[in-house]
Amino acid sequence: MLDSAEPSRRAVLRAAVATVAGMAAASPVPHGQVLAAEPAPAAPPPPGPVLGPVPYQGLLESEGHAYHNWGVSHETKPAVYVEPISYADVQAVVVDPIRFPSPVSPVGSMLSVTRTIVNDGGTLLCTLKLSDILGIETDAAGRSVVRVQAGCRLKKLHLWLQSRGLEIPFQAEIGDATVGSMAAGDSKDSSLGAAGYFSAGVVAVTYVDEQGALVTLSDLVDEKALAEFKCSYGLSGIIVECLVEVRSARLCRSRFTVVAEESPQALAAAIRRMHDECDSLFVGVALESLQCVCDQRFSAGPGAMTPAASQPVFDKMRRSRGLHIQHGLAPKTTAKPPPLPHEIVYSRADMVNEYWRPKEDEPRLDFQYYEHDLSNLGRVMEESYAFTKQFSKKHGFAPHEWVIYFVRRLPATKKPYGLYSGGPGISVSFDPTFSNPVDPLWQQFAKSYNQVAIHSLGGRASPIQTQWLTPADLTIPRKLAHDRFTTKYYAQFLG
Ligand SMILES: Cc1cc2nc3c(=O)[nH]c(=O)nc-3n(C[C@H](O)[C@H](O)[C@H](O)COP(=O)(O)OP(=O)(O)OC[C@H]3O[C@@H](n4cnc5c(N)ncnc54)[C@H](O)[C@@H]3O)c2cc1C
Repeated sequence: MLDSAEPSRRAVLRAAVATVAGMAAASPVPHGQVLAAEPAPAAPPPPGPVLGPVPYQGLLESEGHAYHNWGVSHETKPAVYVEPISYADVQAVVVDPIRFPSPVSPVGSMLSVTRTIVNDGGTLLCTLKLSDILGIETDAAGRSVVRVQAGCRLKKLHLWLQSRGLEIPFQAEIGDATVGSMAAGDSKDSSLGAAGYFSAGVVAVTYVDEQGALVTLSDLVDEKALAEFKCSYGLSGIIVECLVEVRSARLCRSRFTVVAEESPQALAAAIRRMHDECDSLFVGVALESLQCVCDQRFSAGPGAMTPAASQPVFDKMRRSRGLHIQHGLAPKTTAKPPPLPHEIVYSRADMVNEYWRPKEDEPRLDFQYYEHDLSNLGRVMEESYAFTKQFSKKHGFAPHEWVIYFVRRLPATKKPYGLYSGGPGISVSFDPTFSNPVDPLWQQFAKSYNQVAIHSLGGRASPIQTQWLTPADLTIPRKLAHDRFTTKYYAQFLG
């Protein structure tokens, strides 16, 4: 499946990388793999593939409970639900198909809006108890990296780095997403001075493969294999640990502008002008009324904490935005928001939110994600406007708000499959949002709009951020998937 090449040279390089990167007890094994030892105090895993059955110590539930995603819109009844407390536990699960029936699928916080978490009759493996941040290191290329376990939530990571004057550039407002999910899956953020998706900053992963072996891939030694693995959604293996590049923390200056235009084309042109003027842009669009709020972001010099001069305005804005997102950007569900300042300097890490798990009768965020090339934004907004007007006229329904992220694409060698794999350039999302994931009209809108966004406009979709996809909408290369990890949901997309 993953790339293999000259064992001797690669083994030497791996040993060098592992030593400098501080992988305790790293040792080459057959097939060119490197074993990473689990951090103390747990005992290091046995060398090579686990021949199992071996003891499993973490939480194990096999009484038929149902599990739901954050939006309470998708349910799954695995035969077994596990929360491993060590890497050896993850290995023990993978090597024992009798006790832990196939497929074994990893999840973190189960925030994803699609059926990606669904694994009826299989083994659902939740990484949330593997959440340690193991330290800052300098890797063999001289980069500063943080070594972090897969189940670590992003807000925890941001706060830990912030207290050391450091940051990762990916600072989307979602604090609960886990490192493992984002390293192997899709994400988006209008980041300052970086690509804008989490996995772009992941320079090494350690995962449990289908034989139960701990394998480490580094971009210095296994560039192609790592790039492919980062597009695999857990189908190539279960991530337990990552190295993520960090930099000195910088402040952000946001300038907020409300823009209104006469046509969707004019609105798109105004948004593109706004984008050209700043370091990074995030936009919320009220499509039917052809208005938007532009958040133009500028690098504002070094600094990890929001300056006192920005308080208490920043804190009010932060809390109001968090609540608005929690409630699915629905108008009128929250108290009147405070007026937006024209400009404010703050730490983006401070803007990352914690969200409570909503009940079924609460308004809560749901969305559909689509990636387009920036050059296509005018057409995307024009056709989406026409579709939404028509749908609204016929059914009396329209999404609350559309959200635009800007992502810088890297060379396709770094992102060979899925989102952002089109080679260097700038991508925009154009994402409808709503506040009730199970509303029949929202679901009908989303299903019909998939046709427009993907097939008419040529947008790319994500199996964890775009709902109601069919095999015609998305292909995941079969070589990325092992049977042991492939759920029915993912099997339909393999090709
Ligand atoms: C309120 C809200 C706001 C959001 N805002 C944003 C945003 O601004 N930007 C953004 O990008 N996303 C956003 N999202 C989407 C969310 O961040 C992603 O869906 C993210 O992947 C969720 O992380 P998780 O840990 O909950 O993943 P889960 O839903 O638990 O898992 C998703 C998938 O990731 C894979 N996976 C999980 N763990 C591992 C592992 N250890 N190894 C290999 N594969 C694994 C599996 O395929 C799994 O099915 C938001 C979601 C919500 C509900």
